[in-house]
Amino acid sequence: NRQADMDVFNRLESEVRSYCRSFQTVFTIANNARIWDKSGKEYIDFFAGAGALNYGHNNRRIRAKLIEYLQADGVTHSLDMATEAKETFLTRFKSFILEPRKLDYKVMFPGPTGTNSVESALKIARKATGRTNVICFTNAFHGMSLGSLAATGNAFKRKGAGVMLGGTTFMPYDRYFGPQIDTAAMMEKMLDDPGSGIDLPAAVLLETLQGEGGLNEASTEWLRRVECICRDRGILLIVDDVQMGCGRTGTFFSFEEAGINPDVVCLSKSIGGYGLPMALTLIKPAFDVWQPGEHNGTFRGNNLGFVAANEALDYWRTPELELAIASNARLMFGFLHRMASAYPQAIEEVRGKGMIQGLVFREPANAARLSKAAFKQGVILETSGPKDEVAKFMPPLTIEENVLKLGLAKIESALRELFD
Ligand code: PMP
Repeated sequence: NRQADMDVFNRLESEVRSYCRSFQTVFTIANNARIWDKSGKEYIDFFAGAGALNYGHNNRRIRAKLIEYLQADGVTHSLDMATEAKETFLTRFKSFILEPRKLDYKVMFPGPTGTNSVESALKIARKATGRTNVICFTNAFHGMSLGSLAATGNAFKRKGAGVMLGGTTFMPYDRYFGPQIDTAAMMEKMLDDPGSGIDLPAAVLLETLQGEGGLNEASTEWLRRVECICRDRGILLIVDDVQMGCGRTGTFFSFEEAGINPDVVCLSKSIGGYGLPMALTLIKPAFDVWQPGEHNGTFRGNNLGFVAANEALDYWRTPELELAIASNARLMFGFLHRMASAYPQAIEEVRGKGMIQGLVFREPANAARLSKAAFKQGVILETSGPKDEVAKFMPPLTIEENVLKLGLAKIESALRELFD
């Protein structure tokens, strides 16, 4: 029974766990946006592995390629030796993703996770500039290693680290003080003022839309201004696209619409296509400062990740996926605004774009209450934000329209149950 199942987790797993507390069941199988537990109950997945499952669970096209590769005894682990799977990945990434966007990057495989990518980006910026300080932002999330955590604006997550690593300066993100105060101008003034106490940084590290930090979105003007500030002072601009990349916001890279051209880009989560661990660090050729062996790791360059990614990248050759994202995003936007108007006493606003949108609750605890009620209805919905006040809607990009509508209807029932 369910309680006995959960006892195994409660007794044995470290206190670090959180998801088996909030989603109290044991999952068995999954297909695209649907996942079933041991009892056969179906859930619609509006969490999508925190953005690692943009192409859905067990994507049929990708799965077929993986099975084919395994059955042919394809090389699975090879550190960073050259393999055919990797060669195909590099060729496709260049021709399907970089060239159509007129982007020129060298590709580095920094290790299996998003944190590895951020860590390598910080090291590149320090090595390329000979400086140590990095500007990062309020409510940012960049990972759990000491370097990426030092750049993370979340007191709770940083607590376990004891004394933090130095070398980061936090600045207010766009609209941190509301729409009237231009935080890019503030940053520029502080960088140029010898009295501000801020060391000229190696890099500015930012998310274009803060996934963990509460779906705060930087405006195009702010991003362009920050890019200019960096260019004028020889500071590297690093965009952490770990969660917002691979189509989440509607385009492959989240910064495409703003038309900025970061010096370094961090990608992970859905780049591995099938929920397989994989990360990339994209580096402008001028900043490829590594010596061979200077940054390595056993699990960088996972061939199953390459095989899955090679099929996933194929989605970007035609406009089909982008059109589906746009249409599903409109549907979600309409629904969330309808809910915000229906429950103005509970919901403060709707945030986000593309297939990452959310409801901000006036009373933070209501976001977790909605998540719980949605789970009972059969929807997996996570929260985000500094006070966990945002219910975050991020289903797979490939979700079928009828499944999306069903999930939203279940959430409407949950909202009704809580606030009617
Ligand atoms: N950067 C961002 C923007 C993220 O959202 C995350 C993960 N939530 C990370 C970095 C860290 O990635 P990982 O958990 O794969 O190490």
